[in-house]
Amino acid sequence: MIEGARSSRAKCKSCRKKIEKGVLRLGVLIEGPYGVGYLWHHLTCAAKRRLDDVEAAYEREAWNEAKEPPEDVPSIEDMRKLNEEAEEKREQRKKIPFVEVDPSGRAKCKYCGELMEKGSLRVVLGREIEFGSQFRTMPIHLHGLCVASEIEKVDCSTRSEGFEHALRQNSHGLSEEQIESVLKDIGELPEDPEDPETEDAPPF
Ligand SMILES: [Zn+2]
Ligand SMILES: [Zn+2]
Repeated sequence: MIEGARSSRAKCKSCRKKIEKGVLRLGVLIEGPYGVGYLWHHLTCAAKRRLDDVEAAYEREAWNEAKEPPEDVPSIEDMRKLNEEAEEKREQRKKIPFVEVDPSGRAKCKYCGELMEKGSLRVVLGREIEFGSQFRTMPIHLHGLCVASEIEKVDCSTRSEGFEHALRQNSHGLSEEQIESVLKDIGELPEDPEDPETEDAPPF
């Protein structure tokens, strides 16, 4: 069901904040121990985190299930756009380095320039890019086999030290075997260059 909240009592199951009266909300019907009831989400939160439910609700025009159907419901295109933006943000928040499954088969390895196969495992490292006077770390995709060569470059912001630990920590949704196979491809990493700032000061 999609409706304007009839009170301010329900909390959004996505963001855990109160859904203020009148704000559009999506009710997901569930069967609990006390019978059938709705779990509520802000419509916008649902669009960001559970677009499938929103798509389904729009398909059956779920606003007609409300006692007082809301007068104005945003378009499904707006909902999809919200989801896309949220997806991008989640992407940016991912910690580098990590392993992921190549989703498209259209990206090239930033070290060797070859296309990476759809469904294959790829490693994401950071590369320092200068924007005006600022440096920013951009995620770059690589074959496991190309990691050791990339990490030696001066503009690579990922370090060898603690690499394996970080990779295991940051890679989600993969099996132990998948991580192991990538680590095998990566092999031994070169030692990090010494950081000039932490070198001992020259004797006077
Ligand atoms: Zn919410
Ligand atoms: Zn490569």
